[in-house]
Amino acid sequence: MEVKLAATRGFCFGVEDAIEIAELALDEHRNGGIVALGPVIHNKQVVQRLEQAGLNQSGDVETLEAGTTVLIRSHGADPETFERAKERGLNIVDATCVLVKRAQNVVKQLHEEGYKVVMIGDANHPEVKGVIGYAPDVVVVDKGDDLEAKIPYRDRLGIVAQTTHAPEHVAEMIGEIAKRPFRELKIVNTLCMEVTKRQEAAVALCAEIDVMFVLGGLHSANTQELARLCREQKTPTYHLETVDDFDAEMTAGHRVAGVTAGASTPEWVIADFVTMLEAL
Ligand code: SF4
Repeated sequence: MEVKLAATRGFCFGVEDAIEIAELALDEHRNGGIVALGPVIHNKQVVQRLEQAGLNQSGDVETLEAGTTVLIRSHGADPETFERAKERGLNIVDATCVLVKRAQNVVKQLHEEGYKVVMIGDANHPEVKGVIGYAPDVVVVDKGDDLEAKIPYRDRLGIVAQTTHAPEHVAEMIGEIAKRPFRELKIVNTLCMEVTKRQEAAVALCAEIDVMFVLGGLHSANTQELARLCREQKTPTYHLETVDDFDAEMTAGHRVAGVTAGASTPEWVIADFVTMLEAL
């Protein structure tokens, strides 16, 4: 089978940094005593490798013993988590991506400037849960239906977005918000260009292939978004975690396959998959 790879795919710098920070912290704490507050990134295979290296990734600041080192994952955490960790005598290693940190700072600043902060994003995503902690009563909206119920009228609104959202979706939501009465609207672009580059490359590749494989964690927001965009191009698309999820039926009747991967998908997952496809 002919295989074409998306020009930009796989690990972003934020994920690479988070894994490196986790590995360095593990080296320093060879005898244990380091715990991550949730999976370091949204990729099962990387999480398993870190677990095998000795990193517990289901920590809770309220139950850890004083002196334990806690690793804040790439998605960040709210200020209360940092405060509680300090109060409880825990050591903090912060692997929050710099772009997530920027979104946190923007939310804080918008609030200080008197804006009612609105975040376009998935309220259940760990990044969003952390970012909204940097200002009181941040409103999270993800689809048009949310606006009627959640967006306050006649306020000064400060708008940010989850870093991994597609620019088209964010633009659509801002357009809907702009139709409503408000005194002032301030939009700060918190989207991650790493994600945008992967989305553009995937969409471009759809024009050259018969079937697309999007590799990455099933819970990874940016990987899900890649698959959604490819399906939107009317390209038959499969979102798989690894080569183990492949079924020969998926390529039946197709001659050229495209492969892309989310920002938290390691290169070896992509390489294994491409080798298998090329051998078909
Ligand atoms: S996708 Fe962007 S925001 Fe998320 S970790 Fe990577 S660089 Fe940071």
